[in-house]
Amino acid sequence: MAKQTPMMAQYQAIKDQYPDAFLFYRLGDFYEMFNDDAIKGAQLLELTLTTRNKKADNPIPMCGVPHRAVDSYIDILIEKGYKVAICEQMEDPKAAKGMVKRAVTRLITPGTQMDLAGDQTRSNNYLTALTQQAQQYEIAYVDLTTGELKTTTVNTWELAVNELVNLRTKEVVVTPDLGEDQRSELTKREILVSTQPQVEAQAEISYVTQALSDAGQIAVVSLLVSYLLATQKRSLSHLQPAVSYQLDSFMKLDPHSMANLELLTNLRTGKRQGTLVWLMDATKTAMGSRLLKQWLNRPLIDQAAIELRQDKVQGLMDHYFERQNLQTELTKVYDLERLAGRVAYGSVNGRDLIQLKTSLEQIPKLRYILEEMELPVFDQLVDDLDPLTDIADLIDKSIAPEPPIAITDGGVIRDGYRQQLDEYRDAMANGKQWIAELQAREREATGISNLKIGYNNVFGYYIEVTKANIAKLPADRYERKQTLTNAERFATPELKERERLILEAREKSTALEYELFTAVRDEIKTAIPRLQAVAKLLAEIDVLQSFAVISENYQFVRPELNHNHQLAIEAGRHPVVEKFLGHQAYVPNDVMMDPETSMLLITGPNMSGKSTYMRQLALMAIMAQVGCFVPAKHAVMPIFDQIFTRIGAADDLVSGESTFMVEMMEANRALTDATADSLILFDEIGRGTATYDGMALAQAIIEYVHNEIGAKTLFSTHYHELTSLAQQLPHLQNVHVGATEEDGQLVFLHQVLPGPADQSYGVNVAQLAGMPASLLARARAILTQLEQGEATTSTPEVVTNQVATSSVTQSTEPAVKVEDPVADQLALFNPQAEPTVTKEQAQ
Ligand code: ADP
Repeated sequence: MAKQTPMMAQYQAIKDQYPDAFLFYRLGDFYEMFNDDAIKGAQLLELTLTTRNKKADNPIPMCGVPHRAVDSYIDILIEKGYKVAICEQMEDPKAAKGMVKRAVTRLITPGTQMDLAGDQTRSNNYLTALTQQAQQYEIAYVDLTTGELKTTTVNTWELAVNELVNLRTKEVVVTPDLGEDQRSELTKREILVSTQPQVEAQAEISYVTQALSDAGQIAVVSLLVSYLLATQKRSLSHLQPAVSYQLDSFMKLDPHSMANLELLTNLRTGKRQGTLVWLMDATKTAMGSRLLKQWLNRPLIDQAAIELRQDKVQGLMDHYFERQNLQTELTKVYDLERLAGRVAYGSVNGRDLIQLKTSLEQIPKLRYILEEMELPVFDQLVDDLDPLTDIADLIDKSIAPEPPIAITDGGVIRDGYRQQLDEYRDAMANGKQWIAELQAREREATGISNLKIGYNNVFGYYIEVTKANIAKLPADRYERKQTLTNAERFATPELKERERLILEAREKSTALEYELFTAVRDEIKTAIPRLQAVAKLLAEIDVLQSFAVISENYQFVRPELNHNHQLAIEAGRHPVVEKFLGHQAYVPNDVMMDPETSMLLITGPNMSGKSTYMRQLALMAIMAQVGCFVPAKHAVMPIFDQIFTRIGAADDLVSGESTFMVEMMEANRALTDATADSLILFDEIGRGTATYDGMALAQAIIEYVHNEIGAKTLFSTHYHELTSLAQQLPHLQNVHVGATEEDGQLVFLHQVLPGPADQSYGVNVAQLAGMPASLLARARAILTQLEQGEATTSTPEVVTNQVATSSVTQSTEPAVKVEDPVADQLALFNPQAEPTVTKEQAQ
């Protein structure tokens, strides 16, 4: 084997420490990748793959990216779930003796990306950690850009995974002993699993764990912070002391329900449009936008806390002009949380500080506006809003109003801040003045009118004379420096001396500026906890004003909350569907369930609006419990502890289970965990299997929820037989979504009415879908045949006493295999399916 060059030996030694990351090895103006990194990197980043020593027997694969453009390449790799280790030159190559010293200065991973841009800033990027102790799992999470740090303990692996998925973490840090199965489950959910040994207490760790008492939580937070220290290799003074939270303090929403209800992500497109957050987000700051998502992730269950938010929203709705002013001021507030993070991180520049100052300057105005409203609900908030005038003043007097991005090239510090700096600047300015005068003098002395004095980084100051005029120059003073095509450049002893003075002043001035800048930065660092506190309050004001705006724009009402299982929604709407259809086109619907009614059995043709009706209630519950108003004319709502959904056919692609299996698993989750305070939405449970099989399951599930749980439940079904259950189950009521036939065409009314549906219109829907006329005629003929047959033979009946359903198997299915809607028609001939309208419904 050929002997390694010293450089490749150094490369390999560093690479060995970061086997699971792309090593970006700095070589002059490029970051280079070698060997497997280069092969894979060239492919992922669409770079040209070359080799290091082409003549060798085994040339080393290599590819590189220019250092100025490195960020975009890092982003691509992180986005794809990889890690990137940045290896820098630790000394000036010109000054180095032998090999230039190099070291990894930062390991960038999906959970620790700092340089977020665009839409990314409207979401938190959480790095999580997970540990296991006996039967418990501890979870900690941090947003490195904002320093927010939280921890909790859960009792099952499933809850742990749910929490990680709900946090949308891209990376979880675990201890080396986490089981292989568990790792692979996390990987399947596209969470990068990183391993980190626990480390002994360090200053940072004891600071962030100060408020925790649970040993397991201290351990998981320590694990998280150890990983940050190991990867970031720098100050993490913006990390906030970890806050312990309990899942039970919030409404529980599992990831399936979050996805099904399209709270944050559109099921079909994977985008934000068409989601609840999209509708509700009228925030003016990225901080507000992130907080809104956090609130939607964790609706409240504490009535007083919800009502406090409602009071604030009400106040903002009642004060239109103040609210407009608040919005105007909020638009001038930059991302304080992330600015504070950059201060701590040492990556802040002059422009960031000006943004910080501008943001802080809005606070007294915001306070004033809030005070003007004279609303006691805002008193506490106003008191807590620290305008940080000391910090705003410090930035104002020290930082130039329009500083450059670079902090090393000067021009960042404001004139008048430090006398010494002003003197250097005078020297530089005078130097320029002197040079202008020299140019005038030399022109006169030589008679060359286009003689000019210029400057470049390589040759410094020079006098430039075109070739045509060279002869006019005096021989003695002019010393040649550089030859161009049309001109020659010269220096004179006088110019050289002045150049030395100017450059010295410039060098000293930039060094001093840098020193002053870091001092300012360090002083701001001491105020980070105050900045973070004020950022939180501004985010809260922003979300509340956003609630007020949307509540006003979309005519929402303030829901009356209770713990008595009282649900009375008058003219409720699905806010997102309404937004798409328009206010006029949307048909509002009531949801009336007194404490005695726990279940609505919803029938009606496909496409009539059953699932929209169900989702509408869940969305209203979430909106109510985050403190927003709800789309209805009047709303009385119980506080739900959890929402369970089994809606639509959203296949669980991750677990690879069949649709029916997923359906049963989701249903089971509700059956196991729901309480009388929960909300359950079951959309056409049982449709994924044979008719009788499915109907039997559906009935058993209804009975179980009705008798054992008592949760408020909306159950849609196309098994019309089930509607007769209302006779046996006192807490169940039938409703249906109306439709009529006009000239043979099906017309959806989208209106939810008392009692069961009288027809299922399956063939009509097929007709609407444009199926061939001959096929439709055939379906009608089969239907008639079946109906006649069924009238004489045994009708599928609802089993009234809870007989085991296993004896009803697929073999009892009708001999002719038909679409479900057709099978639905059978139900019409069920003698028990009499409409049952109760008192409430008849109103
Ligand atoms: P189902 O669950 O009964 O098959 P959906 O709830 O999916 O029906 O509704 C089908 C379509 O009907 C929706 O996409 C929507 O466009 C329309 N729709 C549903 N509810 C309403 C309503 N209340 N007002 C107006 N249009 C509605």
